[in-house]
Amino acid sequence: MFEQLELHSDLTRALTDMGFTTPTSIQSTVIPVAMEGRDILASAPTGTGKTAAFLLPAAQFLLDFPREYHGATRILILSPTRELAIQTYEHALEITQHTNIVCGVITGGINYGTDRDTLAKNLDILVATPGRLFEHIEKESFDCRDIELLILDEADRMLDMGFRSIVNQIASEARWRKQSMLFSATLEGPGIAQFSKDILVNPESLTVDPSRKEKAKIHQWYHLADDSQHKYQILKHLLTEQAESAIVFIKTRERLQQLKDRLASDQINVVWLQGEMPQDKRNEAMSRFKSGEIKILLATDVAARGIDVEDISHVINYDMPRTSDVYLHRIGRTGRAGAKGTAISIVEAHDFAMLSRIARYIKEVIKPRVIDELRPKHKAPSIKKPKKSRIAKAKKAAKKSGKPKKKGRGKNITSRKQDG
Ligand code: ADP
Ligand code: MG
Repeated sequence: MFEQLELHSDLTRALTDMGFTTPTSIQSTVIPVAMEGRDILASAPTGTGKTAAFLLPAAQFLLDFPREYHGATRILILSPTRELAIQTYEHALEITQHTNIVCGVITGGINYGTDRDTLAKNLDILVATPGRLFEHIEKESFDCRDIELLILDEADRMLDMGFRSIVNQIASEARWRKQSMLFSATLEGPGIAQFSKDILVNPESLTVDPSRKEKAKIHQWYHLADDSQHKYQILKHLLTEQAESAIVFIKTRERLQQLKDRLASDQINVVWLQGEMPQDKRNEAMSRFKSGEIKILLATDVAARGIDVEDISHVINYDMPRTSDVYLHRIGRTGRAGAKGTAISIVEAHDFAMLSRIARYIKEVIKPRVIDELRPKHKAPSIKKPKKSRIAKAKKAAKKSGKPKKKGRGKNITSRKQDG
């Protein structure tokens, strides 16, 4: 229950309005520590409510320590992409709706006049993408002097996108801050450890594996396709007969363009997101999809990162991802906090190695399904959960028989990180 977190009643009221009744695990883990003022290094999988995990303590901080004079921004949240920055900003507006906290957002692709109006507002909370914010810092149209709390969201993604140095520079401009928090879907991968050392002081490291309940929401299966023609027919069937709303992932821009044309010739309406798309086009696509006007969004991985659209019933992997991590990111678009979701991969024989790798990585069974009128020529093999290793079995047996267990060895074999 949110009451236990001792948040200001203006915030709990907003949570009620938003339909949030219980905190997710990352929220109940992070919020109390954040409210003590500690630096935080937090990770939890996509879709587990990290945004509110930092917005709530941030808003609480502003309510506990109200401004004494008009001045510059007090809380800075950096987001890797424009879409994500805008979503985080909208989330902040909701959470602060019953307070007089002033929020703003600044991202690339929007004209500088709009930024000037935003920055003129004595913002309490600013959400920004690093590139555009840094331009303002250099032009001295933004002042970091009053920043008390710095939050980096999707830090892993920021590194992927090459923002390390800019973010470090922004952090050093904001050197009078009292607290910093870094959020990431994962703490693995190159660079996060060093990045967090650069930014955080004596952080509390909080990693949350989502509860069973939070995890079990996504149903996953796959369809076997004989060839690309068959693959398309399966997709068409899923989009017209099964999915209420879907994000379809495609490997490259070229393939996305082809697929969109093909769907259009079959009278299936879609919007799409791809890298290097003008901002107004992206916004337009997102708003048509979000409003429910268009139910299908085609996207490449780069373009889709961070988008949070509620109630997507289906995530469809038209092309398999390159790594298991990317798979997790993709399927995280569905079944977000509470809602049930479905993730379907359409695979050809050559995708099987990847599919098995993913199943091992996520430690879940991905079962085949068949559409009656679109049966594949061959029967799809079942991808089973990996069998327990011999050592793990021996350990279990040893435990049962009361023998002391051997230390150390089985460890690598059951370790989660196998690729990606
Ligand atoms: P993450 O950043 O971990 O990927 P988000 O913060 O985007 O996840 O949250 C995912 C979805 O879950 C959002 O639609 C959000 O509104 C919703 N959500 C977050 N916390 C809760 C909660 N405590 N109860 C209900 N829904 C929640
Ligand atoms: Mg997030």
